[in-house]
Amino acid sequence: MGQSSKLIAEVFRCFICMEKLRDARLCPHCSKLCCFSCIRRWLTEQRAQCPHCRLCPVLTCGH
Ligand SMILES: [Zn+2]
Ligand SMILES: [Zn+2]
Repeated sequence: MGQSSKLIAEVFRCFICMEKLRDARLCPHCSKLCCFSCIRRWLTEQRAQCPHCRLCPVLTCGH
């Protein structure tokens, strides 16, 4: 609680929506974290690549 929980919220932030992670997914190439809903929307509406490193479909990493 307090400072530590605030720090964790800063670290574990979705790089797509910049909000606190919900149902986090990890890109195996760039190790960026994002919400499942965010990356699913990206892969569906944009392109089947990680929006950060553009290497891989993030959802295939199995996490
Ligand atoms: Zn998000
Ligand atoms: Zn990536």
